[in-house]
Amino acid sequence: MTSPMVEFQNVSRTYGAGSTAVVAVHGATGAVPALSRIALVGPSGSGKSTLLHVIAGLERPTTGTVTWPGLAVAVSRRGLAIAGVAVVFQGPSLVPTLNILENVLVPLQLSGLGPADAEGRARDALGVIGVLDLADRLPDYLSGGQAQRVAIARALVMEPRLILADEPTGQLDSVTGAHVIDVLIEAADRVGAALVVTTHDHRVADRLQDRWVMREGRLHMDGVSRMDGVA
Ligand code: ADP
Ligand code: MG
Repeated sequence: MTSPMVEFQNVSRTYGAGSTAVVAVHGATGAVPALSRIALVGPSGSGKSTLLHVIAGLERPTTGTVTWPGLAVAVSRRGLAIAGVAVVFQGPSLVPTLNILENVLVPLQLSGLGPADAEGRARDALGVIGVLDLADRLPDYLSGGQAQRVAIARALVMEPRLILADEPTGQLDSVTGAHVIDVLIEAADRVGAALVVTTHDHRVADRLQDRWVMREGRLHMDGVSRMDGVA
């Protein structure tokens, strides 16, 4: 049995202090199994993004523990570096002064891959997502759906084991959003990654097997997991 990509125990995250403190996540416990497909749903302000950031290692929980048993974690003075996690955000996240190919090259260059290999892999990822014809364009000249597909290509290029997407269809019309979510699921299938998607669109949630519900900072796993009884 493969280790879970991430496990979290009794995690809380508070912003601010004293009378203005906001408890964004309160006592959340759970795990993301390898290859799982999880929709993290709940109203605006319920703590979905905060929990996703904690799972990604981008934010530290105020209390509780997070571990990544199935991933390589390096701890340095600069903080945690978790190999194999890719995050897709809701809004525009591409570097506006770099063309599409260069945007997808960024993570590869940071990883120290040689230029020829990096360009080959970036073009492959753009091809898989169906946006290779946009390689030379600047982000400003893309539609919202195209930009989100490029962001998915950039997430895919490092062959992550865990893809975390925060309302990736939130700014798209429903037809474009449905395409983008299909592309995201195909990308996760292709690289063999677990996928967690926050959304308040039930049509998006319905495309994923498992459902986690956030309400006022509390996580409820009342969506019955298809993996229950299998493990
Ligand atoms: P969701 O993604 O479900 O809309 P969030 O995780 O963004 O919810 O926010 C949960 C709560 O935490 C909200 O009340 C929000 O205002 C608050 N919050 C989120 N991020 C911050 C922050 N950086 N500073 C202060 N409060 C925050
Ligand atoms: Mg959010």
